[in-house]
Amino acid sequence: MPLEPKLDLQQTNRELERLEPTAILEWVHRTFGARVALQSSMQKSASALSHMIYSLGMKVDVLFVDTGVHFPETLETRDRLTETYGLHTLTLYPEKTFEEQRLEYGRELHLREGDYQLCCELRKEIPFVNWARGRYDAVIGGLMRSEGGKRAEIEILAVDDRVEAYKIYPLANWSEEQLDEYNLRHDVPVHPLHFQAYPSIGCATCTTPVLPGEDSRAGRWRHIREQLEQPVTHLYCGINREDK
Ligand code: SF4
Repeated sequence: MPLEPKLDLQQTNRELERLEPTAILEWVHRTFGARVALQSSMQKSASALSHMIYSLGMKVDVLFVDTGVHFPETLETRDRLTETYGLHTLTLYPEKTFEEQRLEYGRELHLREGDYQLCCELRKEIPFVNWARGRYDAVIGGLMRSEGGKRAEIEILAVDDRVEAYKIYPLANWSEEQLDEYNLRHDVPVHPLHFQAYPSIGCATCTTPVLPGEDSRAGRWRHIREQLEQPVTHLYCGINREDK
C-alpha cells in the first residue's frame, strides 16, 4: 500500500531536525490527522510523549503490548497515564499465554540466545505489527539518539514497512536529562522502577537493575549477554524496526 501523504524523507527530516518535540507533534497532527498512534512501552519517554499529546489535544491511539510477563508497575503506569491524560490506550496481546508458549516449544524461549528473539517476535513484534498494519499513517515512538547503540543513528521521520506507515521519533534529539527535566517540570507520572536502578524496562523475566557505571541497557537480557562469546552492550526486542 502506498504511504499517504507522500513525503520526501530527506527534506522533511532536515526541517524536523530544527523543531522541538512538541512542534514535531504539531506537524504530525497537521500532516496525518487522526490516523496516528503512539507506540508506548510505558517507560519515561512514553510518559513525556503521553503528556505532550494530551497538552496538544491530539486524539491518537496509544498502543501497549502486554507480553503477559510485565512488572506489575508497568501495568500500573499504563493505567495511571491513561487516567491522568484521558488517553485512548489499547492493550495488545500475543496469541498465546507464556505458559502455552512454553508447552508448544517445550522450553522457555526467553532464557537462551537464539530463542529469545523468537519470544520477542511472538510476544511483542507480531501483536504490534498485526494490529498497526494498514490502520495508521504514522506511528510515534520514544527512541532517542542519546540511548546509543543502533539508536544513535535514528532519523526523526522514517518508514516502517512492516506496518505500512511512517515512524516518527519526536524525542530523537533529546538527552536523558532533558527527558527527566520535562517529566519533572510537568509532574508527569513516571514508571516507578526508573527510580530503583532500572533505566530501561522490559519484561520482568528479562530485565534486571543496573550497577553503578553500567550502560543504561545493561539490565536488559543480562542472562543472554552472559551466554555470548563476544561482549555486546545493546540487545533489542525488535518491536522497533530501527533496532533490528
Ligand atoms: S523480553 Fe524476554 S520474555 Fe519478553 S518477549 Fe522478549 S524474550 Fe520474551
